[in-house]
Amino acid sequence: VFDVLIVGGGPAGAASAIYAARKGINTGVLAERFGGQVLDTLAIENFVSIKETDGPKFAVALEQHVKEYEVDIINTQRAIKLVPGRIAEVHTATGAVLKAKTVILSTGARWREINVPGEKEYRNHGVAYCPHCDGPLFKGKRVAVIGGGNSGVEAAIDLAGIVQHVTLIEFGAELRADAVLQRKLRSLPNVTVILSAQTTEIHGDGKKVNGLSYKDRNTNELHRVELEGVFVQIGLVPNTEWLKGTVALSKHGEIEIDAKGQTSVPGVFAAGDVTTVPYKQIVIAVGAGATAALSAFDHLIRSGDD
Ligand code: FAD
Repeated sequence: VFDVLIVGGGPAGAASAIYAARKGINTGVLAERFGGQVLDTLAIENFVSIKETDGPKFAVALEQHVKEYEVDIINTQRAIKLVPGRIAEVHTATGAVLKAKTVILSTGARWREINVPGEKEYRNHGVAYCPHCDGPLFKGKRVAVIGGGNSGVEAAIDLAGIVQHVTLIEFGAELRADAVLQRKLRSLPNVTVILSAQTTEIHGDGKKVNGLSYKDRNTNELHRVELEGVFVQIGLVPNTEWLKGTVALSKHGEIEIDAKGQTSVPGVFAAGDVTTVPYKQIVIAVGAGATAALSAFDHLIRSGDD
C-alpha cells in the first residue's frame, strides 16, 4: 500500500513525487507518459531560473530528479478507475489494482479536437495543434488557425512570422482574445480573419492537407481555402473522463480543488492542468504539485495512518 500514489507524470506529478518522497513516505507515480505535455513542446523560456530549455530535455530532467528519490515509477500505464476509501484503489487499463492511503491526481490536459472529416486522417500530415512545435514545418506555406481565443490569436501572430499567410477562422461573430492580442493580429499584413465561420472539413490529396472548407454562419454558404496546414486552437480538455462520478468536476470537467489542493473526496488531492487552477503553465503545475504532496502528508499525519 502506497502512502501517496500520484496519477500522472507531468510537471505536477513529478513535483508531488519529489515532495512526498522527501518526507520519507512510500510514494508511487503511475503515468501513461512520463513527462506529460512538455514532451510535445520545443522552447520553454518561462520556467523561472532556467532561461531556456526545450520540452524533451525538461522531461528528462524531471524524471532524473524524481529518480534521485525512492519513488516507484509505473510508466506507460493508464488509470481507468478511482475507488475512494480509507485505502483508495486505482485500477489500470491492464487490470492492475494499486492501493494507497492518499492519492494525488495530476493527469493534465490535452488539445481539444474539432471533430470534422479530415482532422484525424491528416493529423501530423498538415493538421497540427502546437504552433511552437510544428510552426517551423510550414515555413513559407499557407496555414489556417481555427479558434479566435487567446491561444488561437497567439498562434496566428506566432505563425505569421514564419509562414506565408495565416487565415484565422473563428466560429463566433467576434474574436474572444485579449484586445492587445487582437490589435497586434490586425496589424499583421499576412493574416486574414474570418468570423462567423464553421469549419466543416479539412481536405487533402490522400497524403497531405491541401484545403479547408467552412460554412459562413450568416449566409450558410460554403467556402474553400487553399492551404497546406491547419492549426486547431480551440482549447484544452482536462483528462478526467475516468473520474466522472468520483470527484467533483467543474462544468469544464476540471477537478475542483481548494487552496490546499484538496478535492471533494477526503485523502484525494489534485494538481496542475487537470484542476480548476486558472493558468495552465509548468511553473504553476510544479507549485501545485508541491502543495498537493504537502497536503497529502498533512492528511496522513492527522489520520494517524502514517
Ligand atoms: P501534463 O503535463 O498534461 O501531464 C499529465 C500526465 O498525466 C502525463 O504523464 C500523462 O501521461 C498522464 N496521464 C493522463 N491521463 C492519465 C491516466 N488516465 N492514467 C495515467 N496517467 C495519465 N507551459 C509553460 O509554462 N511554458 C511553456 O513554454 C509551455 N509550452 C507548451 C507548449 C505546448 C505545445 C503544450 C502542449 C503545453 C505547453 N505548456 C507550457 C503548458 C505545460 O506543458 C503544462 O501547463 C504542464 O505540462 C502541465 O503539467 P501537468 O503535470 O499538470 O500535466
